This record gives sequence, structure tokens and C-alpha cells, in this order.
Amino acid sequence: MACYGDLSSATPAAFAAHQAACRRCTVCADQGIIAEATPTFSGEWGAKFLLVGQAPGPVERESRRPFSGRAGKELDRWMLRAGFESAEEFRRVTYIAALMRCFPGRNPRGTGDLRPPPAGIANCAHWLDAELRMLRPRVLIPVGQLAIVRFLGHGSLESRVGKKFGERPVMVPLPHPSGQSRWLNDPENRERLTHALALISQLRRRLA
Ligand code: SF4
Repeated sequence: MACYGDLSSATPAAFAAHQAACRRCTVCADQGIIAEATPTFSGEWGAKFLLVGQAPGPVERESRRPFSGRAGKELDRWMLRAGFESAEEFRRVTYIAALMRCFPGRNPRGTGDLRPPPAGIANCAHWLDAELRMLRPRVLIPVGQLAIVRFLGHGSLESRVGKKFGERPVMVPLPHPSGQSRWLNDPENRERLTHALALISQLRRRLA
């Protein structure tokens, strides 16, 4: 497996090799953590935005396109509110990855998807670490509490959404766009989301 710990390896060709290696990754299936490996991510060399979600769902497992289900449609609507001309424009300038980039499976009750298990997140971390080093994104958008904690440590969503953190990359956390989340039922939290999208809009204009 290639190592990208050194910035001198950050070239388009090395990045393409990284993506190809990631698409072939089966380590979690080999270890029995998931039934089938279907690494799901999108984006190109040069992306200024890096969006990190939790894990793909069953829709994404089939499409192999991140955020292509119902939550993705909501995310696309948020990005229109953040000033992108279209969902396609947002996705063109954004690398979209996840803490665990294969579908973790359904929960035993069949009422939803499993949270990505720690072993799967640990196995997958080096892919994300390499993308951070190679892309050096200007803006990092962690989506959902699990991804936010990965970058900012423990803290409430209320203390994170609507604010920006750091310099390079600037981090702008978002809640998960899943309709199952009740966090956005609170008007104050919807206001926090509006602030976060305004921050993304400012950064988008600055980087245009
Ligand atoms: S979740 Fe990540 S580490 Fe595990 S098989 Fe998929 S791509 Fe590989």
C-alpha cells in the first residue's frame, strides 16, 4: 500500500493512484466487519473543499456516489442556500469522503443504518489522512457529530454548528442532513445551520 506521508508525493498522478488503491480496498470485508466492501467517495485533484460524512448508506452502496440518497438531496439544497449555483457546481469543487467509506450495514432491528464501528473507522482513517495531506483543502466541512468529533474533539453540536474553526483548512461543521435527525426541529438550531451556510457562502466567494 502506498504511503503519502510526504508532500512531495502530492501530485495528480499520485492522487489518482491513491484513489484507485482506495477503490480496491477490501480490508473491512476481509476482517468480517462488513459483508461487502464498496468504497464510496467522489471528487478530483485540486478540490478546495473537503466534505467528510459518517458513512455511506444503502443508496450510496449501489450508486457509489456519496450523498446520493434523501440526505444527499437535503445536503444539495443546503449548498444552494450557501450560494452554489447548482448541486453539480458544489460537487465539482468538493471532495466528498467519509470516516468509513463502505456501508456499515443495517441495524438488527432493520430500523436504520448501523453507526460505523470503531474498527471500520480506524481501518479507513489512513485514506482520509492521505487526502488531507495531498489535497490540502482550504475548507473542511465535517457533517454530523461523529465527523465533527473526529476533527474538533468532543463537544455539543450547538457549540459547533454556525461557527468556523482553524485556518488551513477552515472548518465549518454541519449537522447531518438526514431526515431522521430531530436536531433541526429546534428553531435555534435551524438558525445555527443558516449561519454555517452563510460561512460556507463567504468562503466560496473568497475562493472563487
Ligand atoms: S471502510 Fe475503508 S478501510 Fe474498510 S474496506 Fe471500505 S475503504 Fe477499506
